[in-house]
Amino acid sequence: MDEEQIDNNLTEGNDTIKSTEKTIRHKTKREISDRLRFRILMRDGFTCKKCGRSPMNEMGGIELHVDHILPWSKGGETVQNNLETKCKKCNLGKGNAFNA
Ligand SMILES: [Zn+2]
Repeated sequence: MDEEQIDNNLTEGNDTIKSTEKTIRHKTKREISDRLRFRILMRDGFTCKKCGRSPMNEMGGIELHVDHILPWSKGGETVQNNLETKCKKCNLGKGNAFNA
C-alpha cells in the first residue's frame, strides 16, 4: 500500500522536473513501459548483458532490470536499441542510476 504511493509520487516527479528536459530534447519518455521492458528481456534472453547471469540458470538472487545504455539524462532515448537487460547488481554498480 505504501509502496504504491511512493511509485505514484515518483512518476509525478518525473513529469514536473523540467530543468534537464530543457537542455536535452527527448523524443521518448524516460519511463520504460511494461511492454517495452518485456520485449527487451525477451530479446536479451532474460540474461544480464554485462555479466551473463540469468535467473533461469541460478536459483534465486538474480533480479533483472532493463536499463538505458546511454543514460536518459545524457540524451539517451527510451528505444529498443538504447535499452539492455542488466541484473540488479550490475545496474546499481553503474553510478548513473540516480542521476535524475
Ligand atoms: Zn549482471
